Amino acid sequence: MNKLFIYALDLLGDMMIIVNKKYKLSKNYIPNNLVKISDKFSNKEIYVIDVVKNNFEKMCSDALNYNLYIIAMSGYRSYEYQENLYNKYLKIDKPEVVDTYSAKPGHSEHQTGLAIDVCTNTKDYIEFIDTEEYKWVKDNCYKYGFIIRYPKGKENITGYKFEPWHIRYIGDKAKYIYKNNITLEEYLKK
Ligand SMILES: [Zn+2]
Repeated sequence: MNKLFIYALDLLGDMMIIVNKKYKLSKNYIPNNLVKISDKFSNKEIYVIDVVKNNFEKMCSDALNYNLYIIAMSGYRSYEYQENLYNKYLKIDKPEVVDTYSAKPGHSEHQTGLAIDVCTNTKDYIEFIDTEEYKWVKDNCYKYGFIIRYPKGKENITGYKFEPWHIRYIGDKAKYIYKNNITLEEYLKK
């Protein structure tokens, strides 16, 4: 077994857990304290870790003060869910193409319960980049402990295309990452 394919949780505990193309979660890893995001701020039943829910809902209510509607459309996803999704994409694209936009099972940050894909009340996640909500999230989400996990221009570091809609909770370190315009990978390398 490739030594890089070690379990992410053994490396880093709590909110700084890293899951990417190198570091994976085990098949049976399910986070503790999964709770449902309020219907007000989600478009289906979405679960994340409790601290993530609290901070996400706080961010969404604050955004409402500016008439911005941030809505969760994906949160925790199980290993099996990701496995099905990845296999479905493999029927459409070649593996090297699929790997630029979808995670292999065990390698999805959504399995941690710390990541959320967002959209707005009127725009799908694919169009999120063109919204006022995105502009606000980009410069304010760190205040609630979130980062844009796959930023533009960092594809060679994160291994993923720019995903304006994918935010990741990491807690108070988010501020440092935002202010220094770095990724979680670069932060952990320090
Ligand atoms: Zn995502």
